[in-house]
Amino acid sequence: MSTHIPDVLLARLLTAQRVTAFTGAGISAESGVPTFRGNEGLWKKFKPEELANLSAFMKNPDLVWEWYQARRTIIGTVQPNDGHRALVEMEVLFPSCTVITQNVDNLHRRAGSRNIVELHGNIERNYCLSCGATYDGTDLPHTAGVPRCTRSGCTGLIRPDVVWFGEMLPEDEWEGAVRASATADVFFSIGTSAVVYPAASLPLTAKQQGAFLVEINTERTPLTPSADLFLQGVSGEVLPAIVHAVRERRTP
Ligand code: NAD
Ligand code: ZN
Repeated sequence: MSTHIPDVLLARLLTAQRVTAFTGAGISAESGVPTFRGNEGLWKKFKPEELANLSAFMKNPDLVWEWYQARRTIIGTVQPNDGHRALVEMEVLFPSCTVITQNVDNLHRRAGSRNIVELHGNIERNYCLSCGATYDGTDLPHTAGVPRCTRSGCTGLIRPDVVWFGEMLPEDEWEGAVRASATADVFFSIGTSAVVYPAASLPLTAKQQGAFLVEINTERTPLTPSADLFLQGVSGEVLPAIVHAVRERRTP
């Protein structure tokens, strides 16, 4: 393992009861899922902000649906990476471990994490804008453009169950995220640009409530000055190195 894990973090982890990991698009980048803010995040020259909102969907539902289908195709062909898997191992290493994710790609679940708060929804789920009926990826009506609801008498537009720009976060998920942040002994902010609010306030909540705040990112972010420790690197290497270091110290 090349990443050096400082003693100050190891000491915290060895006594930690609650560990919370807050993840963004960066943790899935090594799996091949494009982040939003890199150039590869563009699709047909559209910025995600131009497509991931309700008025774009109402104006051109077929276009927005096509973008989500393109993203689902990518996500369907990729696999969780060592970063996702290290977080699964943390559920075994610590008495309580929660993953709060801004990702909609379902990769934490596919990797095997069980205690997950999906702040921004999940691209595998969909629901009808008119009646709220839910559809998972397998029971969607097959159509070229946006599918329509097939429940009796309803022909509403079906949208992905993700939180679009300008929309509220799901209340239960938000409360779960605040709880897991406020009670964390160690809080990891991983692969997120830490600019999308209110999610970006969670690391600060954790720190204010006494957590040791660790940021793992390939680049500095607006959160970096507030972090107790900034580990620069790819999450698929840094997270396994952390798990490895904790295991080594625990086994005499
Ligand atoms: P972002 O694209 O704004 O930022 C990604 C961050 O990850 C950057 O700070 C980058 O430096 C860092 N990064 C890139 N590769 C990394 C790696 N291998 N290891 C560690 N860090 C790495 O993403 P965000 O902060 O999640 O916010 C954007 C919004 O976009 C979120 O709300 C999310 O819902 C959505 N989104 C989700 C997915 C997904 O589900 N995989 C993908 C793109 C965007
Ligand atoms: Zn309906």
